[in-house]
Amino acid sequence: MTVHERNLANDDLKRYANLIGGKSLEAQGGAWIEAVCPSDGRPFALMPRSQKADIDDAVAAARAAFEGAWGRLTATERGRLLVKLGEAVAANAEELAALESRDTGKPLKQGRADMAATARYFEFYGTSADKIHGDTIPFLNGYTVAIVRDPHGVTGHIVPWNYPAQIFGRSVGASLACGNACVVKPAEDACLSLVRICELAREVGFPDGALNIVTGLGGEAGAALAEHRDIDFLSFTGSPQTGALIQAAAGRNSIGCTLELGGKSPQILFADADIAAAVPVVVNAIIQNGGQTCSAGSRVLIEEKAFDKFAAAIAAKFASVVAAPHEMDRELGAMINPRQRQRVEGFLHRAQNDGLATMAQGTVVAEAPASGFYVRPTMFGPVDPRNTLMNDEVFGPVLALTTFRDEEDAVALANGTPYGLVAGVWTGDARRSMRVARAMRCGQVYVNGYGAGGGVELPFGGVKKSGHGREKGFEALFEFCAAKTIVINHG
Ligand code: NAD
Repeated sequence: MTVHERNLANDDLKRYANLIGGKSLEAQGGAWIEAVCPSDGRPFALMPRSQKADIDDAVAAARAAFEGAWGRLTATERGRLLVKLGEAVAANAEELAALESRDTGKPLKQGRADMAATARYFEFYGTSADKIHGDTIPFLNGYTVAIVRDPHGVTGHIVPWNYPAQIFGRSVGASLACGNACVVKPAEDACLSLVRICELAREVGFPDGALNIVTGLGGEAGAALAEHRDIDFLSFTGSPQTGALIQAAAGRNSIGCTLELGGKSPQILFADADIAAAVPVVVNAIIQNGGQTCSAGSRVLIEEKAFDKFAAAIAAKFASVVAAPHEMDRELGAMINPRQRQRVEGFLHRAQNDGLATMAQGTVVAEAPASGFYVRPTMFGPVDPRNTLMNDEVFGPVLALTTFRDEEDAVALANGTPYGLVAGVWTGDARRSMRVARAMRCGQVYVNGYGAGGGVELPFGGVKKSGHGREKGFEALFEFCAAKTIVINHG
């Protein structure tokens, strides 16, 4: 992301627009931000650098839609529109995947997988819209009590750059299904696929203002959205630091929010694990999306007696991973921006200074442009559990291995960071797998498998510093509704 200060008169970069109240609009201030391709560090498009005035208009358009044409639709009609949007995403998946890959630097196959998941989010939430049932409650004689689920009204969605389309799909898909109107502030580092998907929403017939997107910087358009007095609920995925600002802004307006803030997710390998099955999954869980995944499996805890054998198997696979420009479609691409690369390199330097042993390194292809933001995937072990690599989110292709003595030690280590998002448990002992899964303090546990970022149907979210609230699955629908109790005295 670069804030654009050149004279635009002769600029031939494609310009993307905000979508506000059904209209494609530039920022009122006329400023632009460059979309930069991480694979080569070159700008390839422009997006509006919006400000508070643009956000004000988007919120007003959403409010009008909620109180007007959008709010009047039945749940079935809303659902049909969402299903149509899913079909439109699927029909345009190649174009969208290419755009997503260029914008984020992720391999094309990951861009394709992201678009398939995004289409599926709209299908899942579209077909759920008319199944958000209420309840009745037994009460006093002569009374009937009904619980109905009302939309909040206007919801604000602040989306990060790592999986722009998927995180947008899971968040606005659930919110729209509930009947809310949405204002989206996507990440300045990667968001063009979202602008296209919002155009598709207009094409398939969403009423004007039901879904609005306003691009811009976090501290400008993002802060204006988070602070807005006419927003009824906020959904945020991103860093813990920004998450704290969002929560404070929500608090000042006395509204609710969901925060999904990343993690330091452990994979626990007991000595009786099927290591052949585990190895590709363990390596992919940290390499996918260059490790820039909130649920990346960034720590591997291995039972002491199996450490040498298991670590060697993981290292052999890890050494084969290749970082390359997105169009070469290798295991991973470049980091999103120079700041993120610098952050990852900082962790690598610190690991060196701490004397950590490098167990394996992947490679960066020779053809990778020097102007791209590549880092070399690196695996360390055994790492002291107190080391920063075992506790802090790197958000890059850096894997740390450590040992544990027994089940109790494994559980203590797995739960021993400030985060709690996802965990993986690998064992042939069914009773132990259940004991350990139940003991994990996190939002999702996989047994003999792992899904970094996967699972449209599976409720997802954190405990502790990983955040609160649940996205994905049917569970997310309860975040975007408020239960209303109707007490009827009929004698
Ligand atoms: P960030 O949290 O600053 O950005 C996420 C979103 O928040 C973007 O849309 C951004 O524009 C917006 N934002 C930023 N400041 C804001 C503000 N003051 N008010 C409202 N919105 C604001 O994340 P980043 O700086 O792009 O990345 C930094 C680190 O965050 C990464 O290194 C990684 O550790 C973490 N991260 C986590 C996730 C995740 O999926 N959990 C995603 C992206 C980044």
